[in-house]
Amino acid sequence: MKDIVFATNNKNKLKEMREIMDGLYHVMSLEEIGCHEEIIEDADTIQGNAKIKADFITNRYHIDCFADDTGLEVEALNGAPGVYSARYAGEHCSYQDNVNKMLNALDGVEKRKAVFRTVIALNLEGETYYFEGRCEGQITKEQRGSEGFGYDPIFQPDGFDETFAELGMDVKNSISHRGRATQKLIEFLQKK
Ligand code: IMP
Repeated sequence: MKDIVFATNNKNKLKEMREIMDGLYHVMSLEEIGCHEEIIEDADTIQGNAKIKADFITNRYHIDCFADDTGLEVEALNGAPGVYSARYAGEHCSYQDNVNKMLNALDGVEKRKAVFRTVIALNLEGETYYFEGRCEGQITKEQRGSEGFGYDPIFQPDGFDETFAELGMDVKNSISHRGRATQKLIEFLQKK
């Protein structure tokens, strides 16, 4: 099995990605390659942030790698928090802080359409490739479920009555923004 670096420190995402790529690639974390530096993600687009992370690793360690960046775009909030989804409730906020802020921001709002968007930047043999995955749904009126992370307890994907946090990882991975972007990445890597 080939090695590939996934430029993340997020244990939830790493676990998801390893499950999706099981049997195809040995996905190595930043920790496994000895990278403990903080990568500053200061681009103003999701794609820009994914490229910053992938380039940091490729330039420093001279290895092929991919990085992802995700944003939750809420229609009633004009696309916010988008690229700022991680810090929506402030610089060192928790997932729960973000969930609370979102529920407050949409208090009394009936139109709750939202889309999760993931962009994966892959640096392979000197070229950069991008893969995008989307998952459309609704922000629920209260949080439900205990699996997953981030906004999962308040995101109900279209076609389901449950939130991502109720659906669990297998179902989530088969329909999620990151799952879809990853499928595109895998199809590309298989053809290589
Ligand atoms: P990142 O740029 O991929 O780290 O994602 C930014 C933020 O979006 C995270 O801190 C989470 O709050 C949220 N997020 C990313 N992916 C997911 C997901 O699959 N479910 C719920 N929230 C997510």
